[in-house]
Amino acid sequence: METTWTHRLREAGLRVTRPRLSVLDVLSAHPHADADTIVTGARAQHPTLSPQTVYGVLEALVSVGLARRIEPAGAPALFELRVGDNHHHLVCRSCGAVADVDCAVGAAPCLSPSDTAGFVVDEAEVVFWGLCRRCHGQAAEESETVGGAST
Ligand SMILES: [Zn+2]
Ligand SMILES: [Zn+2]
Repeated sequence: METTWTHRLREAGLRVTRPRLSVLDVLSAHPHADADTIVTGARAQHPTLSPQTVYGVLEALVSVGLARRIEPAGAPALFELRVGDNHHHLVCRSCGAVADVDCAVGAAPCLSPSDTAGFVVDEAEVVFWGLCRRCHGQAAEESETVGGAST
């Protein structure tokens, strides 16, 4: 596993460093993690890592295409290692759970605007919003309101 990442970092033109390997490790265990979760996970392995270092690593990984950043509206940016397949996301409005969903077309842009207005379109950002299985189940089960959940 680690050898693979070593190889992929080199291939991407990045030096192989412990913080980078550590962030990759956390990301492979927690797809769609936000930066804070990744900081916590990376520091569990290397307590001396500063949040700044981890943020820097994330920037570097995204910029070379080893990681992808998704930014659902109203949520912190999330990071994942599944790149290059133009997959989309289902996001739960209630708990923020995120699931991958394959793009039916497979390559960006998978949707064409009815009118490009002269733009050269290279990507359509698709987010499916709704309630995850768990939240939907809860809403159906509990007839009483679950008020005050948002602090
Ligand atoms: Zn949910
Ligand atoms: Zn994803």
